[in-house]
Amino acid sequence: MAAVSPRTHIRTELPGPRARAMLARDADVISPSYPRDYPFVMSHGRGTQVWDVDGNRFLDFAAGIAVCSTGHAHPRVVQAVKDAADRFLHISSDYWHEEMTALGERLARLAPMGEPAMSFFCQSGTEAVEAALKLARHVTGRPRFIGFLGGFHGRTMGSLAFTSSKYTQQQGFFATMPGVTHVPYPNPYRPLFAGADQGEAVLDYIRMLFERNVPASEVAAILVEPIQGEGGYVVPPDGFLAGLRALCDEHGILLIFDEVQSGVGRTGRLFASEHWGVHPDIMTLAKGLGSGLPIGAMVAKRRLMAQWKRGAHGNTYGGNPLACAAANATLELVEGGMAANAAAVGAHFVARLQELARDYGCIGEVRGKGLMIGMELVEADAARTPARELCDRVITRAFHNGLLLLPCGASTLRFMTPLNVTRDEIDEGVALLRLSLDEALAGVVARVSE
Ligand code: PMP
Repeated sequence: MAAVSPRTHIRTELPGPRARAMLARDADVISPSYPRDYPFVMSHGRGTQVWDVDGNRFLDFAAGIAVCSTGHAHPRVVQAVKDAADRFLHISSDYWHEEMTALGERLARLAPMGEPAMSFFCQSGTEAVEAALKLARHVTGRPRFIGFLGGFHGRTMGSLAFTSSKYTQQQGFFATMPGVTHVPYPNPYRPLFAGADQGEAVLDYIRMLFERNVPASEVAAILVEPIQGEGGYVVPPDGFLAGLRALCDEHGILLIFDEVQSGVGRTGRLFASEHWGVHPDIMTLAKGLGSGLPIGAMVAKRRLMAQWKRGAHGNTYGGNPLACAAANATLELVEGGMAANAAAVGAHFVARLQELARDYGCIGEVRGKGLMIGMELVEADAARTPARELCDRVITRAFHNGLLLLPCGASTLRFMTPLNVTRDEIDEGVALLRLSLDEALAGVVARVSE
């Protein structure tokens, strides 16, 4: 694809007339709780490109929050879903069928547990986390958990107890599952512990907790994102996950990696934990697993999952054939080259963003692995104060320039394109981003009318 000069593919005022009509209908009938930052009204998509109902073309660097891993409407995934739909749409998990068993086999082969593994299927990330928590409590018989500040694990009552990335919007509203203690996530860009390796310091902090007020013998599991997602796309220091593994082994605690956002090729490896060669006891997946069909999975070492008796946990839709067909096709594509593409194009993307960082003082840090990349915007002060308003403005300007972006953390732009994005699309996106930064810094606000 030849590079397109910025904005030529945006044909109307945004939102255009059809989009406006849709927004007006929607306002009366859809919950206002959805955070919708700008009025993109989708018509269709192919790969990394999406079109709105007024015929404007956008580059999608948000990919449905890292869900559209194989790009929009990948023909192999669409065909797999159509073939499954032609046979039957659903049979409950009381029965067996080919797509579900095949997906279990595939995940058993790929899962980075270092030993045989089994899968439990559901529809979303939060359900996968709930299943992991239940299993951990069941096999250890222990009541407590350790989670991380800035972590995000879902919005149901168990997973919400661990979710602290947006405390006031989420956990602050509700009473959640008791027994969860949060510890800092090691963030080398924002060190909490002076003069120390942040990973080592957090491990020491957990050891101190174990000695003082959270007895290790009462802790069922430590739940952690191998790369923190909603909290700001934070990559922990090397050695941190291995340190957690050793700590868990010492105390008979299970280690749960939440790979809902980082898994399925997103970081250039099939699972993010593979960058450090650390095996979890339990892993949660969703988002990119089904390329857009709703599916979650809790994958656990077989010797743990096998302890669940018949009826211990279940659901109606788990293993839905359409969702499993999409996941089988997705994993085939990701294994067959898209993870490698994410590694190669991701490195190119980081290099291009680092060029931008040299030109703009407001870019504090560019970080990430594969196509899980964050760019943190900061004020011009020594404290690296998060530039929240600027971040909002860049995202709004990017929309008007034909680039879909989402934030994370306090003021981080996150880039999670489809895994089959091309270098040309990255270059086009970086050009649009540069334009958007210029406009945002020049004070072009033009907040979209809703
Ligand atoms: N875990 C992580 C790491 C996530 O990023 C998310 C969603 N952002 C979830 C769990 C929850 O997934 P869902 O929204 O599908 O419940």
